[in-house]
Amino acid sequence: MSAGQEKAQLLNMTLQELGEYMKSAGQPAFRAGQVFAWLHQGTPFEEMSNLPRTLREELAQTCEGNPVRVLQTIRSRIDGTIKLLYRLNDGHVIEGVLMRYKYGNTLCLSTQVGCRMGCAFCASTLDGCARNLTAGEMIGQIVCANGVLAAMEPGQSVGNLVLMGSGEPLDNYDNVVKFLRILRTEGGLCIGMRSVSLSTCGLVENMRRFADEGLPVTLSLSLHAPNDEVRRQLMPVARHYALQDVLDACRYYIEKTGRRVIFEYALVHGVNASPEHADELAGRLRGMQCHVNLIPLNSVPERGLMGVSEREVDAFKRTLERRNISVTRRREMGDDIEGACGQLRRRYMEEGPRKE
Ligand code: SAH
Repeated sequence: MSAGQEKAQLLNMTLQELGEYMKSAGQPAFRAGQVFAWLHQGTPFEEMSNLPRTLREELAQTCEGNPVRVLQTIRSRIDGTIKLLYRLNDGHVIEGVLMRYKYGNTLCLSTQVGCRMGCAFCASTLDGCARNLTAGEMIGQIVCANGVLAAMEPGQSVGNLVLMGSGEPLDNYDNVVKFLRILRTEGGLCIGMRSVSLSTCGLVENMRRFADEGLPVTLSLSLHAPNDEVRRQLMPVARHYALQDVLDACRYYIEKTGRRVIFEYALVHGVNASPEHADELAGRLRGMQCHVNLIPLNSVPERGLMGVSEREVDAFKRTLERRNISVTRRREMGDDIEGACGQLRRRYMEEGPRKE
């Protein structure tokens, strides 16, 4: 590749694509596996020690390793959660959250710069969607997070992923599917689909298409309402898809993958959080292989929406339990570091780097 051309994005390639690329560069097939392994470990080209020096130099000049850089990390004093701000090649800034549980590290990934779904309570969508992320930019977030973890504590790495950062994964379908295929490749990050949760606001056609991909991740559905009327108040997407059709697509996903679906339900004071709403919800979910995750709303002052009291959460939860719906209240993490979707990025854009 000659100078002046765009650099080849190696992290955006499947192992097979990388093989073809190396072949076209006149390299033997086995080099692809070596480069793939190094790239996914976050090793710079110069340090890929089992490659000939000339190849390392050539790759450094013509290719890009990781298109994502860590701009800032902020660590919660409460629970060790780490908020990450990343910078992309074109200057866009995205964010992620690294949650440290006893059983391992979970990374919350972004799939788009912003989001165009317009949910009333979500900070990610306030400025719309600037662009989709590539598969390589999703892998790149994990490689960055692994670097941050290893620097803090050798041997630590990301074990679980939730596609719950900025963006609607099923609105960036092809790149997300490619990302998942690269993610599980042996010799790379090798993270299995059982360690991944994908959260969607419910794009029905793509949910059904995704069920047929043979990528059995845990599907989380952002439900947030027991009926169409309430759902439309919070989520513009509900004007396009009836709740009945969304739930049918969930049933299809359960049937195809054998996995239960998780329903996310953010409790918004005065909108969807009454015991009557809980009762209606239980009726709609009856007989489904599912679990409800109650999220006390992270208030977004820009939209004038308020969270609920502990008493309201408990009452809602008890009503579901009485109707035999499996339910938990989501643990709030990183409350002191703007852990909710899009909040930190937004503050960064408005005020610049936050002082520790
Ligand atoms: N677009 C996808 C994934 C990103 S949002 C989706 O809609 O599912 C990840 C989860 O955080 C969703 O369930 C979303 O509804 C929820 N969320 C967004 N803003 C929130 C807030 N202010 N408080 C609580 N949950 C919020």
